[in-house]
Amino acid sequence: MAGSQNRTPESSVSAQPAPLATPYRTHTCGQLRVDDDGADAKLAGWVHRRRDYGKLVFIDLRDRYGITQVVVDAADAAEAHETATRVRSEFVIAVEGVVARRQPGTENAKLETGAVELQARSVRILNEAKTPPFYINDPDATIDESLRLRYRYLDIRREAMARRLMLRSRLVQAIREAHHTHGFIEVETPNLIKSTPEGARDFIVPSRLQPGTVYALPQSPQQLKQLLMVGGVDRYFQIARCFRDEDMRGDRQPEFTQLDLEMSFVDEATVMGFIETMVIEVSRATVPERPIRTIPFPVFEYDDAMERYGSDKPDIRFGMELFDLAPGLAGPDGQPASGFRVFDETLAAGGRVKGICAPGMGGASRREIDELTEFAKRFGARGLVHLSVQEGGELHGPIAKFLSPEMQAAVRGAAGAGEGDLILVVADTAGTTNDVLGRLRVELGGRLGLANPDELSYCWIHHFPMYQWDAEHHRWDATHNPFSGVVPEDEPLLTTTSGDLGVRDEGDPAGRAKAMQYDIALNGWELGGGSVRIWDPQLLARSFNLQGYTVEQMRERFGAILEAFEYGAPPHGGIALGIDRWAALFSNQATIREVMAFPKTQSGSDLMLEAPSAPDEEQYQELGLRFVGVPEKR
Ligand code: ASP
Repeated sequence: MAGSQNRTPESSVSAQPAPLATPYRTHTCGQLRVDDDGADAKLAGWVHRRRDYGKLVFIDLRDRYGITQVVVDAADAAEAHETATRVRSEFVIAVEGVVARRQPGTENAKLETGAVELQARSVRILNEAKTPPFYINDPDATIDESLRLRYRYLDIRREAMARRLMLRSRLVQAIREAHHTHGFIEVETPNLIKSTPEGARDFIVPSRLQPGTVYALPQSPQQLKQLLMVGGVDRYFQIARCFRDEDMRGDRQPEFTQLDLEMSFVDEATVMGFIETMVIEVSRATVPERPIRTIPFPVFEYDDAMERYGSDKPDIRFGMELFDLAPGLAGPDGQPASGFRVFDETLAAGGRVKGICAPGMGGASRREIDELTEFAKRFGARGLVHLSVQEGGELHGPIAKFLSPEMQAAVRGAAGAGEGDLILVVADTAGTTNDVLGRLRVELGGRLGLANPDELSYCWIHHFPMYQWDAEHHRWDATHNPFSGVVPEDEPLLTTTSGDLGVRDEGDPAGRAKAMQYDIALNGWELGGGSVRIWDPQLLARSFNLQGYTVEQMRERFGAILEAFEYGAPPHGGIALGIDRWAALFSNQATIREVMAFPKTQSGSDLMLEAPSAPDEEQYQELGLRFVGVPEKR
């Protein structure tokens, strides 16, 4: 019970910016203090808890701002007392009375209003409430998430949820303030548009006025913000809703909110520099109690981040970097010579043998090792080699016998491992090796409590590969954004070996080009990403060709932007940051649903509104549509 009443000063300060008196109340339930002793007051709110001692009834009255104890004494106010005996949890009531200091010894230090109580003269029931399907006044109650989503309005009454919505509101306010300070203007862009690809499927909306045609909901305002730059807006931002029809693995939502921005006459450093300043300002304004680990934010080349952390969104609150075993496993001729076939063959085939060192885990049980091996296999590794460092430095483990004392010393040295540590090794293709070890690193970092949960550790990752090969469609797929620019020195690489942009092959120079693409990561999550764009129409057409768009397709899909670029486009670049993610990270939540008022389930349902639902027959008719069923997946 105590926890539920423990509202921090910080949340109530920002939550009570102005006098909030209304005809129903003179004060909020979080406002009365000893200074108000003797004053008349009116409060209105929900019954958080009621305690009935016969002639005395105590009601903890709650609103968004806090909780105040109301005392109703039959001797002083018989009618009010009679009403108070009828109220139940979550009834909405209005109380009038006089503020009094509590008896010495009965103060509640956990409540900001805990030194006083309201002695009721009158109690009025404004609305009754059914017994809620879960406890609203117990912060520790475990409640099934689908029940919370079904009755989200009740869930939002719970303090933890209310607090997170307040934090999110402060976050958005701070974002707006920072942008206005730095000369940005907020522009709204439409939601009924034409497809803007961000790598997901579009949600489409049939047009009634133009039967047989559809709008697409924006996957992002990408094209529109670039058009705003052509429009001379110079610095744009928006708290933008984006819609992406994806299979909702992990922590995805079909609609989410991003801070979307674009700037003119900039290079990479200008955008990254502004974002860093803004992110620091916003963090300090929203969660002043949380330290930012490193300023300026560390900047990693994409290749370097993958090599060292096995991730393009590294959590750098702790070290435990990946290390390369290959140099230590080579014989005098430089060829792999560990004697352990899997290592030697992997290296000979151009793969990688890398590891991580888990401090102090040398004594891990068989079961723990099996479990970590399963984990590695789940992400595609063929196996996981473990070596524990014994007293004196000797390595123990199923393959230790293959490694000469010199090799053991080299492995230990590369791992930075000491007695009692556990070395975990993956031998596979470069991609799988890095990915699996990167995931193991995060998993073990969590288990070993290596990251300080208070710290905000921002970093940049940039110079991503411009494209990745799409073997199925024989095209170069943009790794991030189809409009991303190439780093100036790689511009000549935007070509194919055949010389024809329509005849593409995996070995094309385009595969080596790096993009002016930057991501910002926070505590192991990708917080945002953006790029300096291609603003030269010829180069844009070349890039689109490599991505497999024919001239006609380009005109059809990106006609407006291609045309606009013929009327003078300034050099420009931008970025988008996930606001749901930012709010979740600020409040240390594992899922973005915890910071969204009305999120959807994994299958895209709104359990409260019961959406999606079948359209009316009339709607079908107006739109000229007929449901023909879904073709079975082959
Ligand atoms: N449009 C990109 C996205 O939504 C961000 C950007 O490049 O500005 O991810």
